[in-house]
Amino acid sequence: MIPSILPTYNRAPLTFVSGQGSWLIEADGRRFLDLGAGIAVNALGHAHPALVAALTAQAQQLWHTSNLYNIPAQQELADRLVAATFADTAFFTNSGTEACELAVKMARRHFHDAGQPQRTRIIAFEGSFHGRSAAGIAAAGSEKMTKGFGPLLPGFTHLPWGDHDALRAAVTDETAAILIEPIQGEGGIRPLPDVCLKGLRDLCDEHGILLILDEVQCGMGRTGRLFAHEWAGIDPDIMMVAKGIGGGFPLGAVLATEHAAAAMVAGTHGSTYGGNPLACAVGCAVMAQIADEGFLQDVRARAGLMRQQLEALVASHPDIFQQVRGSGLMLGLKCKVANTDVLNACYAELLCTVPAADNVLRLLPPLNISETEITEALTRLDKAASALSSC
Ligand SMILES: *Cc1c(COP(=O)(O)O)cnc(C)c1O
Repeated sequence: MIPSILPTYNRAPLTFVSGQGSWLIEADGRRFLDLGAGIAVNALGHAHPALVAALTAQAQQLWHTSNLYNIPAQQELADRLVAATFADTAFFTNSGTEACELAVKMARRHFHDAGQPQRTRIIAFEGSFHGRSAAGIAAAGSEKMTKGFGPLLPGFTHLPWGDHDALRAAVTDETAAILIEPIQGEGGIRPLPDVCLKGLRDLCDEHGILLILDEVQCGMGRTGRLFAHEWAGIDPDIMMVAKGIGGGFPLGAVLATEHAAAAMVAGTHGSTYGGNPLACAVGCAVMAQIADEGFLQDVRARAGLMRQQLEALVASHPDIFQQVRGSGLMLGLKCKVANTDVLNACYAELLCTVPAADNVLRLLPPLNISETEITEALTRLDKAASALSSC
């Protein structure tokens, strides 16, 4: 008999009932150190006082009005994002995949209104992940995500990761945009080198096409800058944001330049919940913490410490681990044994991590994890690896 929850997930037999900073408390009272952060969502850890205060204050005022009216918290969040980034404008969604839907619509509408309606195709990359909506799975294109769900949304070209010649050849007079994650998350923490991101920007400029960055996982301070593309010194035309921006409350956004977004006039897009007062009140509190140079500097320092300790871990367990990957606090351990075995060994040490493709174990701690907690996490990883070696 089908379970009452549609069984699309293989869940760990764990039930967390509360959270505190970098810690999750199981129903039986055990305290797990959380290096998953709800898949890079709880950017400020669990039950951060500023976020709890923002949410409860808004909850006592007004929950929802729809976008038929002005929403002050939404205006404030948009202003904060525009001030802190390349963007001139923002649209709020409830998730990353909804941000993908709008990014695709915006790119196509841009060329429609620019008198180049044949430019509808979007170049995307193997191993990418853009969510589970129709546009999201068509953009990613993998068999695993698309099998049995056809006919798929047309207009996507899929290229191997890192094949420059294939990329140049794929740009035609039907191309509207290139869509890419600066660091592939689900794909196994695969960072795009800065020079490649610069090269993509140049290629887009050369052909007058749009660069869409999916920073749903790597954005919001995860790499030690507010957004990952800042490391490469380039700006996208359109960017998808979600996960960390709500700190655990469902919230996403599409940020764009005026040039890219100008065709999205009244009536071209909408969302009942998107940019709702509760989500935006929390989003403003998250931005107030993360879009702060001092905070980001601390993230970079913690990331340096964690990286150093992970390199030592890999060196002392060459039978279990192959390599450390990633940037900032978006880190991955490429495993030599099944990553799910390492995941389970970590659970046994009361440590939460997240598996990814390419046999990688992801480490995505809250951005405000303490140095003591990082060292504790490494002790637990070391014990998990030793337990696996001795099996
Ligand atoms: C998680 C993720 C998405 C999808 O976000 P949802 O909120 O699950 O819809 C899209 N792109 C990337 C890079 C992601 O990591």
